[in-house]
Amino acid sequence: MPQDIELYDVTIVGGGPVGLFTAFYSGMREMKTKVIEFLPFLGGKVPYFYPEKVIYDIGGIPRITGEAFTEQLIDQAKTFDPTIVLNEQVMHMEKQPSGHILLTSNNGAKHLTKTVILATGFGSLKSVKLALPEATHYEGTSLHYTIRKMTDFEGKNVLISGGGNSAIDWANELVGIANSISVVYRKSAFSGIERNISKMMSSSVDVYQPYQLTSLSGENGFVSSATIAHTESGSQKEFPVDSVVVNHGFEIDLGPISEWGLKMEDGTIVVDGKMETNIPGIFAVGDISNYPHKLNLIAGGFHDGPIAVNSAKLHISPKEELKPLYSTNHEPLLGKK
Ligand SMILES: Cc1cc2nc3c(=O)[nH]c(=O)nc-3n(C[C@H](O)[C@H](O)[C@H](O)COP(=O)(O)OP(=O)(O)OC[C@H]3O[C@@H](n4cnc5c(N)ncnc54)[C@H](O)[C@@H]3O)c2cc1C
Repeated sequence: MPQDIELYDVTIVGGGPVGLFTAFYSGMREMKTKVIEFLPFLGGKVPYFYPEKVIYDIGGIPRITGEAFTEQLIDQAKTFDPTIVLNEQVMHMEKQPSGHILLTSNNGAKHLTKTVILATGFGSLKSVKLALPEATHYEGTSLHYTIRKMTDFEGKNVLISGGGNSAIDWANELVGIANSISVVYRKSAFSGIERNISKMMSSSVDVYQPYQLTSLSGENGFVSSATIAHTESGSQKEFPVDSVVVNHGFEIDLGPISEWGLKMEDGTIVVDGKMETNIPGIFAVGDISNYPHKLNLIAGGFHDGPIAVNSAKLHISPKEELKPLYSTNHEPLLGKK
């Protein structure tokens, strides 16, 4: 029964970077906080897809690996001792007559909360698969959707399919590790960060655009060559390849959360300037939130989290004044004398 379940001020669904930072900030606002994460570990996409990649675009941290960054995020998130639940996927939501929200997980566990902050990323961490019938023969051996260990690519001839930030980042990261790197992209212009595109273009990486990967061949589950075709002329090239990395984006799959009645657009959750969804008391932050000019980056999510927490606090105590808050609690910075 809901009345027997411990009530929280805020329940954050998703323990990725944005959920973790949001938990820290929620603790600063002295909100009783719970984080529920589907995976057996915290950190979301960062440890899952790129533990060894270097992250350069977080203010105040010039360079840090995904793994080290995750450790720091977890350390910070635990500052105010939130309850952390792992291995649970939040499935259902029921508004109670009291206005509180009852969440139910895939294992039947119930969670009672005054507000919910959805920090689910794209839901399941599933990459868009390579659309070639032979792709499944090579998955897990020589066809990958991310790079967890850079040394696995040492001395290899690597083909990267894709033209966004991930494809470009991996091409740059593998220079000096792989024997050769070919980036194959179906469009004429890359869609990544300009600085990283320039770095790749002036490196030893072979860039094929507008080309598309049309077939892979090999033996015993290992790729030995790839064929690519020009998307306009159809002319083909074949070259030796030992490893294929496919970066074609992510499938957005929120599971039953998409049936909660939330306003969605392109699979993501529409929020207003308070990060609030169309359901009062439910907020969305990080990659899953949708608002004009949304930045699907860690820095973008770090802006969303504190706004959602402050809005959740106001939802719980509507009369409370919204003060400018600093972690230092430095009196002059608070405008007090
Ligand atoms: C290869 C790659 C490189 C990148 N490089 C950079 C970079 O250099 N700089 C940068 O700023 N960004 C980078 N990004 C983007 C960055 O990783 C994302 O913007 C960031 O992870 C978003 O954080 P999030 O917490 O919103 O979502 P996620 O990291 O996706 O975390 C969401 C978490 O929610 C959990 N979850 C989902 N549904 C449920 C549920 N129903 N119940 C419980 N838990 C649930 C998931 O298991 C997951 O752990 C990169 C992304 C990729 C793929």
